Amino acid sequence: QFLGKDKQDTISVCVAAGCLALGSDKVLEELKRIFPDRIVKGVGCLGLCSRGALVRIEPEGFVIEHARPDNIDEIVNFIQNPKKIRDENEKFYTKQQKIVLKNCGKIDPESIEEYILNEGYKAFLKCLNELSPDEVINEVIKSGLRGRGGGGYPTGLKWSTVGKIQSPIKYVVCNADEGDPGAFMDRAILESDPHKVIEGMLIAAYAVGANRGYVYVRAEYPLAIKRLKTAIKNAERFNLLGANIAGTTFNFNLEVRLGAGAYVCGEETALIASIEGKKGTPRPRPPYPAESGIKNYPTLINNVETYANISTIINNGSEWFASIGTDKSKGTKVFALSGNIKNTGLVEVPMGIKLYDLIFEIGGGIPNDKEFKAVQTGGPSGGCIPSEYLNTSVDYESLTHLGSIMGSGGMIVMDENTCMVDMAKFFIDFCKSESCGKCAPCRNGTVQLYEILDKITKGEGNERDLITMIKIANTMKKTSLCGLGQSAPNPVLSAFKYFKDEFYEHVLHRY
Ligand code: SF4
Repeated sequence: QFLGKDKQDTISVCVAAGCLALGSDKVLEELKRIFPDRIVKGVGCLGLCSRGALVRIEPEGFVIEHARPDNIDEIVNFIQNPKKIRDENEKFYTKQQKIVLKNCGKIDPESIEEYILNEGYKAFLKCLNELSPDEVINEVIKSGLRGRGGGGYPTGLKWSTVGKIQSPIKYVVCNADEGDPGAFMDRAILESDPHKVIEGMLIAAYAVGANRGYVYVRAEYPLAIKRLKTAIKNAERFNLLGANIAGTTFNFNLEVRLGAGAYVCGEETALIASIEGKKGTPRPRPPYPAESGIKNYPTLINNVETYANISTIINNGSEWFASIGTDKSKGTKVFALSGNIKNTGLVEVPMGIKLYDLIFEIGGGIPNDKEFKAVQTGGPSGGCIPSEYLNTSVDYESLTHLGSIMGSGGMIVMDENTCMVDMAKFFIDFCKSESCGKCAPCRNGTVQLYEILDKITKGEGNERDLITMIKIANTMKKTSLCGLGQSAPNPVLSAFKYFKDEFYEHVLHRY
């Protein structure tokens, strides 16, 4: 059907989770029925989730917003008489640069044919037929790509460590255990373009010499899991997974493993334990998973977005990729914009973009004529950034310098009405619930911090509580076993650093 019609004459309906919840599947069925001579298809996330459900029409390139089953007549009328309307969200589209999300909203996520027609698996076949594993690793090193899961560790260096180890068995794992409040980048990528992640994993497996792989994805993402499993089956059908891939001696088997929703399982060693069928709790490092991971074999772990960058790096070259971004933060980053922001949704921007441009130009600013107060980057492991730093460049170093982190890409915007003590309490409450309890600083520290913040928000705290709060937070950072406990105090510390007056107003009862 796709090949038989004019590709330009397409009606694309977003069938990612957000738009599906608004009835986009029914809109899709209706439009298929009404326009039998046009290509009408479901596609992945178009980005502007707050205005869903979204329908894009070609060749005009117009996006119809708020498309619901009950306004199908209006949608049909617009498709039959398309006319440019003033688009207040134009910058949402024009200011982005898409590498990872290149196919999202364009191709049918359940069609391997469409992926292949859009350069899919070209990079993998190039690696397999033209590049040695070392050459692939060198390309990734030269690209400057850093892990998009939060830590920002150089991806090529990680690949090189696993590649150098001699072992009969090696694993490649995709960490899709996205759990930060406000983060939906990985879910959207898997729902919209699962083959891009699989291709990145295949290239990684070829480069490091691995034959087995897992995508560890949280069970709360049923649509992402369904599309991923369909993509794996289709890739097997096309001899792109399994034995003797594309007629070579390279073998790679890929399985999906479901996480039961524990936030700590996003930590690499906990994730490995969970894949092994054990309780998902972290263990001390070293040894690092690159040396001793699943069943003590070398294991390469990257997150969804990291793998989704790889095929474009191979296709366009490391120099091209390294020319985007800043000195130390190359390429683009996908962010999930949420909170008090007009354009809630999924965006991809070049590293180094100013926070202001991301929130006000692309994000559309703050709704209801309210003032911007702060933005939380990095979820519960990150920190808040107040308005005086809106001119900050969005890159790993600049955000860390402000006491926050890039994290995996959740960005929660807060307006003037947000109480920063409440915000700090919310994130500590989250970490308290998610702490696995293995080490005392985190197990006890999150509870104690929560109790203090609860007291303060109820107007029962005093200045001594503030001193105790900072002492506990600093102790947790230094002594917790894993990243969860080490970074859990960040929202508290950054809120206290930038909004000290607000904490004092609470304890001195001036609020
Ligand atoms: Fe568990 Fe927290 Fe210790 Fe990590 S820091 S091992 S989550 S108790």
